[in-house]
Amino acid sequence: MTSRNLQISILGSTGSVGASTLAVIDENPSYKVFALTAHRNAKLLFEQCEKYRPKFAVLSEAAAAEFNTLLVKSNLDTKLLIGEPGLIEVASNPNVDIVMAAIVGAAGLESTLAAASNGKRLLLANKESLVMTGDLLKQAARESGAEILPIDSEHNAIFQCLPQTKSSVHTESNIGVVKVVLTASGGPFLNTPMEQLESVTPDQACQHPKWSMGRKISVDSATMMNKGLEFIEACYLFDLQPSQVDVLIHPQSIVHSMVHYKDGSVLAQMANPDMRVPIAYGLAWPQRIESGVAPLDLTAEEPLQFSKPDLSRFPCLRLGMEAAGERGTAPAVLNAANEVAVEAFLKGEIGFAEIPLIIEAVRSQIPCEPAPTLAIIQDLDGQARKLSKELILKDFCRGASA
Ligand code: NAD
Ligand code: MG
Repeated sequence: MTSRNLQISILGSTGSVGASTLAVIDENPSYKVFALTAHRNAKLLFEQCEKYRPKFAVLSEAAAAEFNTLLVKSNLDTKLLIGEPGLIEVASNPNVDIVMAAIVGAAGLESTLAAASNGKRLLLANKESLVMTGDLLKQAARESGAEILPIDSEHNAIFQCLPQTKSSVHTESNIGVVKVVLTASGGPFLNTPMEQLESVTPDQACQHPKWSMGRKISVDSATMMNKGLEFIEACYLFDLQPSQVDVLIHPQSIVHSMVHYKDGSVLAQMANPDMRVPIAYGLAWPQRIESGVAPLDLTAEEPLQFSKPDLSRFPCLRLGMEAAGERGTAPAVLNAANEVAVEAFLKGEIGFAEIPLIIEAVRSQIPCEPAPTLAIIQDLDGQARKLSKELILKDFCRGASA
């Protein structure tokens, strides 16, 4: 794939990964923006449209009127599409070469699947869609000839450390791989006394020491559910058993992950912690382009440290690893309960320490289907969300700890 005038749809362009993607395109203007999408932020989406002049913009219904008011006063010929059908249209349009899937959570599932089913280069930031559908997403990509390129920095690092083949999904090429190591910063509460975790606020949880990200993934990083989801993501993406995936705490976030080979070699990818690095790699693979990120200066860094995670401090990581072992619908149920619990925490409805309690209760009450269809996954996703909300309303956790 040469970068000359490739057309890209950026799903979730107003978010953190979306903004980083536009920043990489600023460095490489031969990429052409075909579509930009957002949920409700009509004003920012409109400003982005003024700068990048895409053919389409997509917003949720509630924000459409505000965007159209701005549109009629302008000379833009961007067309506004609405909601899920709009997202699917810009993810599957025949004129699109590359889709950046950077919507947060299960809201990104249908559009990510549409890109995978329509032969696109799929830049996968929306890890939740792979966690939910796993093999189905990969199968859709295989059948349509789509390329899935991981944008999550850890998986992008592993991808960079694996033997490069024509296929972007390394099913047959990881010969000689003994295991992969996902690194984790440990988030803002790595050394917080355990008894203080009950009273931490959403703003404290979103103060990530190394990465600036959206609020949901920031909370996931603080609970380490992010690493739990990434553990599942790694098993699916690279066809690994859970026993072949390790997690190491690495607070400096310079080594983004590693691959251990049979002969004792360990390949690691390093860079300053900035999403523009994996995004640039995904856009240009197998070539390399400017990302705009400052060069890494190892002499200016604190010493690089590595340690094993404490699963009693981070029960969400354990829950993610367990779901990876079960596969089937277990990861989708885990993800749904986590999305509801994190939203409730961000709204002040539950405490930080209650997030894993809700998820564990939901996981124990919804049996795992081993070989699900998309319809079964969506059904169980709905059941898990409903049950999570009921448990939150019933103040289940306070009852459980009383
Ligand atoms: P964010 O909250 O900053 O942005 C989310 C984007 O999704 C926004 O553009 C928002 O408008 C859109 N969106 C939200 N709900 C929507 C809905 N219901 N319908 C349509 N659009 C909707 O999130 P982010 O930090 O950019 O993360 C995006 C995805 O990338 C997540 O899956 C996250 O796990 C993954 N990711 C993020 C980072 C990071 O550094 N931020 C790193 C690795 C992976
Ligand atoms: Mg990551």
